[in-house]
Amino acid sequence: MPKGATWIRDYTTAFNPENNAVATKSSGNLTYDYFRKQGILKKTNVIFATPGSVIFGVKPIRDTLMKVIGRYGINFKPFYAPIKIDAEHKVAYFKHVAPDENKCVLNEDNGIAEEFTEGNIIKIPFDMLHLAPPQAAPKFVRESSLVNETGWLDVDTNSLQHNRYTNIFGLGDVAGLPTAKTGAAVRKQVPVVVDHLSLLIAQNRIGTRSYNGYSSCTLVTG
Ligand SMILES: Cc1cc2nc3c(=O)[nH]c(=O)nc-3n(C[C@H](O)[C@H](O)[C@H](O)COP(=O)(O)OP(=O)(O)OC[C@H]3O[C@@H](n4cnc5c(N)ncnc54)[C@H](O)[C@@H]3O)c2cc1C
Repeated sequence: MPKGATWIRDYTTAFNPENNAVATKSSGNLTYDYFRKQGILKKTNVIFATPGSVIFGVKPIRDTLMKVIGRYGINFKPFYAPIKIDAEHKVAYFKHVAPDENKCVLNEDNGIAEEFTEGNIIKIPFDMLHLAPPQAAPKFVRESSLVNETGWLDVDTNSLQHNRYTNIFGLGDVAGLPTAKTGAAVRKQVPVVVDHLSLLIAQNRIGTRSYNGYSSCTLVTG
């Protein structure tokens, strides 16, 4: 990170709602904290751009995060869906995806040199970009017959047993489960899979243990 740079920006965006929802936010907060400790805050803009309407889906956490955003002076940009990165010229392109009724309140933010162009496309220059790319299962899984229509391992939400191949179980990031992909979720999935697999091998039946969708993650605020 260049010390004393006149203008450093950080765009943290989520392309995919299944991503770990807090990792990108933690990095934005830590970046800010670093700038503060280096004494270059006044020469720095930190921008958090997201295609979503809010910073976090769960209200109590959202309220706390908005206080952090306010305390740090981070530019929060909802409805900014990343569509293109011009790495050579260091420009990020976003499409403004707000519902129609919100579009009339869109104003250019001169503080961060953003520029609105035709088709609700927004150009923002940056010095440093941090983003979470679209996530996918490994190629050999994605291109196998084991996946569901979204490309993740096709398992039952509760038993974690494959929906078509009963001798296969899936857990972790590769599993097509309607929950956030985290290590904490894996911790709760492992005992379920171990129980079912052991019983399947020993008694040709699965047990009654059930994964309830639990997931959690620490969120670092600096
Ligand atoms: C920046 C970031 C921060 C995070 N913070 C947290 C956190 O604070 N708390 C939390 O609970 N979770 C966190 N997570 C999520 C957590 O890291 C993942 O959910 C977890 O690691 C998933 O474990 P996994 O074993 O399913 O997959 P992985 O950890 O991805 O393991 C899959 C392994 O398979 C290997 N592999 C891939 N293809 C092949 C192949 N063809 N042959 C052999 N091996 C192969 C890969 O190299 C990899 O080692 C974070 C994730 C990120 C990216």
